[in-house]
Parts: sequence; structure tokens; C-alpha cells
Amino acid sequence: MNVPSYALDAVSRLRAGGYAAFLVGGCVRDSLMGRVPGDYDVATSARPEQTEAVFAGERIIETGLKHGTVTLLLDGHPVEITTFRTDGAYSDHRHPDEVRFAAQIEDDLARRDFTVNAMAWNPETGLVDPCGGQDDLARKRIRCVGDPDRRFDEDALRILRALRFASVLGFDLDPATAASALAKKDLLEAVSRERIAVELVKLVCGPDVRRVVCGFWPILAVPVPELALMAGFDQRSKYHCYDVLTHCAVAAETVRPDPILRLAALLHDCGKPACFTMDRDGTGHFYGHGQISADLTKTILTRLRFDNDTIRRVTDLVALHDYPLDPEPGKPPRAIKRLLGKLGTEDFFRLLALKRADSLAHDPGYRARAALCDRVEALTRELLAEQACFRVKDLAVNGRDLIALGIPEGPAVGRTLNALLEAVLGEEVPNERDALLALARSVTSP
Ligand code: ATP
Ligand code: MG
Repeated sequence: MNVPSYALDAVSRLRAGGYAAFLVGGCVRDSLMGRVPGDYDVATSARPEQTEAVFAGERIIETGLKHGTVTLLLDGHPVEITTFRTDGAYSDHRHPDEVRFAAQIEDDLARRDFTVNAMAWNPETGLVDPCGGQDDLARKRIRCVGDPDRRFDEDALRILRALRFASVLGFDLDPATAASALAKKDLLEAVSRERIAVELVKLVCGPDVRRVVCGFWPILAVPVPELALMAGFDQRSKYHCYDVLTHCAVAAETVRPDPILRLAALLHDCGKPACFTMDRDGTGHFYGHGQISADLTKTILTRLRFDNDTIRRVTDLVALHDYPLDPEPGKPPRAIKRLLGKLGTEDFFRLLALKRADSLAHDPGYRARAALCDRVEALTRELLAEQACFRVKDLAVNGRDLIALGIPEGPAVGRTLNALLEAVLGEEVPNERDALLALARSVTSP
């Protein structure tokens, strides 16, 4: 195993203090897979206060003391050190009623969720793998440690975590684990929406989001019932080769794994079932589905307690995913500039990525709009390079200039600035001070 020295250091100092200590969980799994672990967790026989004594003088963050966790900053990297523990009974499908410290690493591994997450390693002992994690890694399989029904009863979040790891690692669920996850899915109602949202974002950002969403939507529909309406919804359109949910899942898989972009792609058509109409020849239409999907997206993300910034960004992308951006030949790129001003550069490029992925998730005969997105992107980069004006604050005049012209302080100033911006976006006037002042005079004086 290729382990950074600060993580090895954590283990060897505990061992030098006379305690058992191992790297454990995700970092062992990822290292064995040749992936770079996000962080390194240590499990030890030392009690939290003993761990603190071993690392006296280092920066210690006492975040999870009651669960037996001490977080250290070693060499600038956080390392979580947790005392071996077993979890007592679970009566609420969420939290263990009590946590007990344990003497052996094997006891600690037995409480963990999946076999691939239940391995430990240190340089002297080598790999400790009592649950067959290595075998499941080789078979690309997510399998519960112990009886899946019991493990999901204890903590229903594990149902969603199983899907998360399947998506992130590109693994299948072991048949017994999959059957139990489906049978126990309604237990997810007892889990806090914040914890669900954390797992959902990781799932959506996984490379296998499409397979997991399409294969396990009945589980995901417990926290997000809207997905059940999308699943199997026939679009009755020559432009589409997928039902609504598959189309959205394909789009999600196509965009880069950025939470805002992936959430927007997965939800971008969620309002389609609600606004479906069919004309006489049997062709389906979804008039106004952008805004309806945006409203529904806001409801979904609010319910899952996402932060306001994420909700606003994702909702804006969904609302605008069908908005035409390509300028008519010979006309100024007004829509591009207006949306650059409204969304800012970062989200504007997200919108382009969403539009491209949406197009690529259409019937193979109707994917050409993706190339159009490339043209809009090239044009946008030119506009940015020439520092074009997109927002009121990019104008060559400001409110004070207008007041000096005699426009009364108050709403009239904002109205005039917006009128000037519209004129600049339409290339009716250059973004130059004298020209704008002249225009301001003419629009305000009767
Ligand atoms: P990541 O790369 O996302 O951090 P990870 O495997 O480290 O993956 P975490 O959620 O950080 O996942 O959890 C760390 C470890 O703690 C897991 O590998 C697993 O052994 C254990 N674990 C976490 N949550 C649970 C749970 N709900 N039930 C049982 N074990 C859990
Ligand atoms: Mg982790």
C-alpha cells in the first residue's frame, strides 16, 4: 500500500505508545483499488484521552469525542483517530443506543457497513480482512457485513450508502444486499434529510450515476418521489429515445461530476410528467416544462435541506436549460450577454454544459444541438476576452452620473441604467460614456 508519511506516522506513534492501531475503512479500500483516498482514518485500541496523550503537542480538534473520535492535524492534514468500538442496539433505524469501546480490530470491523469498507491495515500486521472485503473488491461487489436485513434495520442510511458506493466505485450490489435494500427502502423515511442529501450528492457525482438511478429508482424515490413519475414516462417524441428518467440520468452522467451541474442535469426535466400533452397524431409535448421543472427542483432541494445558494443555482440552470442562446445570423448575441450578466461566468458555462448534455441524451438522429453549444461557447469566450458589458456595473456610466444629469435619485436611476444596459446588449449604442449620457438624456427628457 502506498500511504503518505503523515498517515503512517499516526499509526506508528500509537503503536509506539503500546496500542494497536490500523488504517481503516475508505482509505484501505481506495488504496487497494489504486485510487487516491480522500482522507485517512485510523482505528486504535487507545481511548480518546490516551490518543490525546500520545499526540500531545500536535493540533487536536475535539469534534467527535463522544463517539471516541479525535481529529489530529498532522503535517497540515486532518487524520481521524477512532477508538475500536462496537455499536449497541439501534431502536430508531438511525443511531446506536450506545457505543461501546472494543479491544480488537475485528470487533470494530464487524460494525462497519460493507465488506469493502471493513478492512484494516498497518505495516506490521498487513491486511486485516475478516469479512471478505478483498474478494468483494475483486468482484466489484457491495455486500453488507453480516445480515443485510439486520444492518439496514439498524441504520437505514446504509441503504442509500450502498447505492452511493455502487455509483462512485462502479460496483454492483450483491443480490442479497440489493433485495434487502429494496425491501427495506421505506426505512429511509426515518433518516434525517441532511444525511440523505450528503449521500445523494455523492451518488449523483459518481461515474455510474445512470446505472444506479435507473436500476434503483424505487429506493431513491423514497426521499425524492418525483423520480417515480419520471421513471418509464414515455415522451412520445421522435426526438427522444429514452423515457424521462433515463434521459435525465444519461444527461447527468455526461456532465462533469460537479454537484450543482449533476443535480441540475438529473432534475432538468422533472416537471415533464406534470405538463405532458399529446396532439392528435400522438406526439407528446411538454410546454413550459423548464419553469415547471425549476419549481419542482426548488421544492425537492428545499425538502432535502440544501443550502440556499445551491438551490438557487441548480434551479436557475433547470429553468434555463431550454432557453435558446444561439444568436440569429447578423444579430448581436443579446441572450448570451444577458445570461452571462444574470448567472455569472461560472454558472453560464454550467448552463452550456447542461444544454450540451441534454442534447446528447436525445435520439441519436437529434443530437446536433450539442455542436451549437460549442459555437456559443466559442462566442462567449470571445466576448469575455474583449471584456464586453453584461451587467449594469459593467456600464461606462453609473448612478451618480445619471443623478448629475438631473435624473431624480430613486427608482428612476435604476430604470434608466437598465434601459442603457438593454441598449448596449442590443448593440444600439457602444458602451462609452458620452454615448450613454446622450442616450440617458434622450430617454429621460420628454
Ligand atoms: P469516502 O471516500 O466517501 O470518505 P468512506 O468509506 O471513507 O468513503 P465515510 O462515510 O467517510 O466513507 O465512512 C468511513 C468509514 O466508516 C466507512 O468506510 C465505513 O467503514 C464506516 N461507516 C461510515 N458510515 C457507516 C454506517 N452508516 N454504518 C456502518 N459503517 C459506517
Ligand atoms: Mg471517509
